[in-house]
Amino acid sequence: MTLTGKTFFGRTHYEVLSVTEDASYDEIRTSYKAAVLNSHPDKLTKKSDASTDPDNFQQDFLYVQKAWEVLSDSKSRAKYDKELLSARHKLEVPANEIELSDMSMETVGDIQELLYECRCGDYFSITLSELREMGILLDEQSLEVESSIDLVPTSILIPCGSCSLNVRLMINDGS
Ligand SMILES: [Zn+2]
Repeated sequence: MTLTGKTFFGRTHYEVLSVTEDASYDEIRTSYKAAVLNSHPDKLTKKSDASTDPDNFQQDFLYVQKAWEVLSDSKSRAKYDKELLSARHKLEVPANEIELSDMSMETVGDIQELLYECRCGDYFSITLSELREMGILLDEQSLEVESSIDLVPTSILIPCGSCSLNVRLMINDGS
């Protein structure tokens, strides 16, 4: 998970303003006004909660302002919704990651192939010579990376032989 992703999902602008994602402009404005009243730095002294950290309080106020800025404008809101959607999409559909040790090796004639079974019953497969072309040399017994050139890819996307699924083979050079 990237730091950006984390920040992005710390709290959405909608959560900051405690509104649903299909809230109308009026609903958002009402919530914003209430949030401002609750988080304005001037109100800090009136808060009885001694544990309230002024820095967090200030931070909250900034989040509320930022959220309002984005959501009050239909154009920037639409853009934000799109970002939210695509970020979520990425999170919900992670590439299925496998390692060399998850694969089994099959030798057909003089072709050595690494296989990993797909949900559809077919296989994700890559041959040792294909890997070699990418600069990845495997020990045929242990399936560990023997040597690799410097700029070797750290992962390879392998498509299924039948369906549209992919798996991401993570290359760990053991170092
Ligand atoms: Zn498949």
